[in-house]
Amino acid sequence: MDCLFCKIAAGEIPSNKLYEDQWMTAFYDIDPQAPVHFLVIPKQHIGSVSEINADNSQVVARIFERIAILAKELGLTDGYRVVTNIGAAAGQTVPHLHFHVLAGRNLGWPPG
Ligand code: 5GP
Ligand code: ZN
Repeated sequence: MDCLFCKIAAGEIPSNKLYEDQWMTAFYDIDPQAPVHFLVIPKQHIGSVSEINADNSQVVARIFERIAILAKELGLTDGYRVVTNIGAAAGQTVPHLHFHVLAGRNLGWPPG
């Protein structure tokens, strides 16, 4: 499958990685929208939240456990946001599940 984030997860396309294990890869976004902006993706191809189910949801729990650890390690004590876009109208441009972690500035609410 010709999927950009599958290639990043496999190491076929380079990325600035913060964390990797058998389940996931976390790497800095190439076009950061905040002073801290990284992505966490499952290594397994899941298209978006719409494709999460009882057979593949364990990786989602592991990703959130890791986000909590990474946020502590990075000292994101003033708060941070975890965002995932589903579909074009929501702004999803890469069709492989990814969680944005944003911090380091005041993040507006509601999002634009
Ligand atoms: P989406 O718009 O699908 O929610 O998020 C996709 C994100 O992937 C965007 O924030 C975009 O900047 C980032 N991105 C796209 N291509 C690459 C890449 O090749 N490397 C990295 N590190 N980030 C990428
Ligand atoms: Zn993929």
